[in-house]
Amino acid sequence: MNDQHGFTLWFTGLSGAGKTTVALALEKELRARGVKVERLDGDTVRKSLTRDLGFSKEDRDKNIERVTFVAKLLSRNGVAVLASFISPYRETRAMVRAETTNFIEVFVHAPLEVCAQRDVKGMYAKAFAGEIPDFTGVSDPYEEPLDPEITLHTHEETVEQSAAKCLTYLEEHGYIPVAESA
Ligand code: ADP
Repeated sequence: MNDQHGFTLWFTGLSGAGKTTVALALEKELRARGVKVERLDGDTVRKSLTRDLGFSKEDRDKNIERVTFVAKLLSRNGVAVLASFISPYRETRAMVRAETTNFIEVFVHAPLEVCAQRDVKGMYAKAFAGEIPDFTGVSDPYEEPLDPEITLHTHEETVEQSAAKCLTYLEEHGYIPVAESA
């Protein structure tokens, strides 16, 4: 059986908005359904494929360009790609859309105050103290998606509800088989 459709589920949003958390939940569910899936995550990719890059606009764009190359190869070969990157620039995300197969933009939204309160990686405290010059949402821009396929409001939803929104979208668009018993 090989009727799997490749797609690129692209999670964009502020640090701490919930991109990684939702992608992990989805990865688990998709694997349980027998879907071939690869997760690409900003934190891990920046320690390997793009460890030479920083956070200037130029370097952020290069980071996404390289990741896009990987997502393109995978998605066109039938793999479900779950990509979690802040990816703050609209123009750059438009480039990813054009390059990859079945691109689905997921705006992972939570107010800046909520992300800062969660401070998952302890970075907002440093950013507000002026110790991180290019921190998205604090000292660097984030351009919200204008017309995303999916919007998650992670301050109002559980992780399961956010993941379910993505699964429903994927099922409704025929990208994954519908779960046998709901
Ligand atoms: P990001 O990958 O966007 O930087 P993380 O996934 O690392 O964000 O952290 C998000 C935090 O928000 C986690 O502590 C997670 O448990 C919490 N959270 C609360 N509700 C949700 C939700 N609906 N979806 C995702 N994360 C949520």
